[in-house]
Amino acid sequence: MIIVMQMGATPEQIEAVAASIRSRGIDPLVLPGEDRTAIGIPASLSSDARTDIEAQIAAMDGVSKVTQTSHPYKLASREFHREDTLVTVGEVVIGGGDFVVMGGPCSIESYEQFSSAALIVKSAGAQILRGGAFKPRTSPYAFQGLALEGLKIMQQVGQEVGLPTITEVMSGDLVPLVAEYVDILQIGARSMQNFPLLIEAGKSGKPVFLKRGPSATIDEFLLAAEYVLSQGNPNVILCERGIVALDKAYTRNVLDLAAIPVLKEHTHLPVIADPSHGTGVARYVLPMAKAALVAGADGIMVEMHPNPREALSDGSQALRPEQFQKLMDEIHHLATFVKGR
Ligand code: PEP
Ligand code: MN
Repeated sequence: MIIVMQMGATPEQIEAVAASIRSRGIDPLVLPGEDRTAIGIPASLSSDARTDIEAQIAAMDGVSKVTQTSHPYKLASREFHREDTLVTVGEVVIGGGDFVVMGGPCSIESYEQFSSAALIVKSAGAQILRGGAFKPRTSPYAFQGLALEGLKIMQQVGQEVGLPTITEVMSGDLVPLVAEYVDILQIGARSMQNFPLLIEAGKSGKPVFLKRGPSATIDEFLLAAEYVLSQGNPNVILCERGIVALDKAYTRNVLDLAAIPVLKEHTHLPVIADPSHGTGVARYVLPMAKAALVAGADGIMVEMHPNPREALSDGSQALRPEQFQKLMDEIHHLATFVKGR
């Protein structure tokens, strides 16, 4: 349930409503907005209790309306926060109308490999540099990433080329370390419901890039975002990276393009698509990147490698340098035709 206060409701009126809710043993969630305050009440009330509260609160001074919410998430919902959230990282604004491209290799493999990738990403016009230092691999025998050494390479190369950086953090206890070296914390698809990790990422105050779990519903995805937001961290970026495929013979995952307009409707958070993990096949990345732009995404995350055949992870979906350049050119061209971009 959401109580929307009138524009200009006084702090005393807001507190009176919150106190009245507390007096029933319920913890209200007070959400000051641009022009009015909303107060959330947990969805777990019985319908009788809800009807009683609705009638009594609606009659209080300063209350504009009381509505039942259809969604279990609150801070992530547009019902609470109508304006788009803009996440600013250095000079890059995510969610503000520009189509932002995050590019780089799946894994940071060496200074030479990452530096060469970063120069290509930068010269092609992408705005954010990606690369994994801690890799969530299906097999424990696969390359696990360079860990701290990878973070150091990322920090150095990011500074050398002048791009903000993003890398995955896989556990809550590593959040302070990773946050020291990079600009955006990525929560991987496999970790979307690692709740202690979400809480630590929320506490870090760093922008958090949250990938949708391969089997997660939209509500589960937004509730995961809610964990980060509920720590007082408003800088959450959502990433649709493909859900489990019916037919794995052709693509690794199914990039859920419909999730893009759905998310844009129900949440104010920026939405990025990842056509690399979404398809698993380099030649499908460009068409799906363009589709994501048309579907209303705020940007894309794309894997590229100076030499994909030598990549230590995800080589089959990595773009070669000239393919990455072509993607940037085509995206730029298409963006001029897509309204509002
Ligand atoms: C990645 O970005 O390299 C990655 C492991 O992504 P995901 O968590 O979406 O599989
Ligand atoms: Mn990858």
